[in-house]
Amino acid sequence: MKPRIALIAHDKKKDDMIALAREYRDFLLTCTLSATGTTGGRLIDELGLHVTRMHSGPVGGDLQIGARLVDGEIDCVIFLRDPMTPQPHEPDINALVRACDVHNVPCATNVSTAHLVLSQLMREE
Ligand code: PGA
Repeated sequence: MKPRIALIAHDKKKDDMIALAREYRDFLLTCTLSATGTTGGRLIDELGLHVTRMHSGPVGGDLQIGARLVDGEIDCVIFLRDPMTPQPHEPDINALVRACDVHNVPCATNVSTAHLVLSQLMREE
């Protein structure tokens, strides 16, 4: 089955997400992708990826991804968090990361880990 990957980036990490996704674009084109609203919009517009867009993170998008994950519909989360900026939806962010831990779903919260996870998923394909 195609890997089902969720992609989320906080505002100051969105350029990093685009650079990362550009590097793995060919692989990501073979995956089933979902993303929070603004992150997903950029992935679609700038890279032509096929992405199911949730609501924006601050209005519930992280929670939507968390709910899909709990239902077994997400295999991996790339969540480029901004550790230097307070986020209004901190509880939602924590809920999503916690759901990953509860359900043992890989969750890459920085670019280095994202490289490790994506390159491993690519190898497995
Ligand atoms: P966004 O949400 O992709 O809609 O900006 C990300 C977030 O802030 O959690």
